[in-house]
Amino acid sequence: MRHHHLGSIVAVLLALIVSASLASKYYRYPIHTPRPVPASPKIVHLNGPTNRPQVAPNVKLVDAFAVPVLMYHRIADLTPAEAKSPLMRDLTVSPAHFEQQVKYLVDNGFTCLLANEVEDAVRSGKKLPEKAVAITMDDGYRDNFDCAFPILSKYNVPATIFIVTGTVGTSGHLTWANIHEMRPHPVGYGSHTVSHADLTALGADQLDFELRESKRVIESRLVQRITSVAYPSGQYNRAVTQKAEEIGYLAGWKKGGGPVQPRTDPFLLPRVRVNGYATLDDFKRKVWSGVETRKMSSELD
Ligand SMILES: [Zn+2]
Repeated sequence: MRHHHLGSIVAVLLALIVSASLASKYYRYPIHTPRPVPASPKIVHLNGPTNRPQVAPNVKLVDAFAVPVLMYHRIADLTPAEAKSPLMRDLTVSPAHFEQQVKYLVDNGFTCLLANEVEDAVRSGKKLPEKAVAITMDDGYRDNFDCAFPILSKYNVPATIFIVTGTVGTSGHLTWANIHEMRPHPVGYGSHTVSHADLTALGADQLDFELRESKRVIESRLVQRITSVAYPSGQYNRAVTQKAEEIGYLAGWKKGGGPVQPRTDPFLLPRVRVNGYATLDDFKRKVWSGVETRKMSSELD
């Protein structure tokens, strides 16, 4: 009898110790206390498909990470007509350059992450590899499947695509079949709204629709929780970030601002743009900016 009492006291003590240590881990970053994850009946996996390549065992994980999240749009060879447009040339990286860039990351020991792995680390105070990047592509262009995907597959590098749901299946854009086919690679997905509207220019109802409907459509197509939105043209304000959070997003991506660091606001995550004019040297500067940032902040400590 006495033994039984002792056993239950020990069990209670153990439970208290475990929950206290979990709680202290959870609240390590008081500035952005983790937001509660709203219930969703459709969650299959929060962190993307299960066959995610594991982080290599020799990779060092750090608390004070600084991860440049690269932002692409089109990966394609331009037609002569397209090449005359400065906007098109800015928006489009050639497959040859893209392959050179992806190969550079692999050859130089960078760990490539999915965007939601970076988001998750920011929200929950997890560690990330000391030398990491993430590849993201906005707008859901068809060439992401035709030109980028074969390269990503060849080098076994994951990527995240932010989809404009209203344009899926239209000329020049991904189809749902493309999106499904890339997913197990893994390619992660986020919302880039329904119509790529400037969210800061919308009334409350339209803002709600753009954020809510795009999330709903992708979730019902992929049967997977969609946790993040990339603000079209990087335009956001307080109403936009609040609405995104209210609807159940866990993260929002803007453009510019350097590498993602632990205390970044999860709804103002920065990205580093790679445009069609970027040389390999430009690219190297962008991808090493995380390591440089870490070096500078540790010198300040
Ligand atoms: Zn866009």
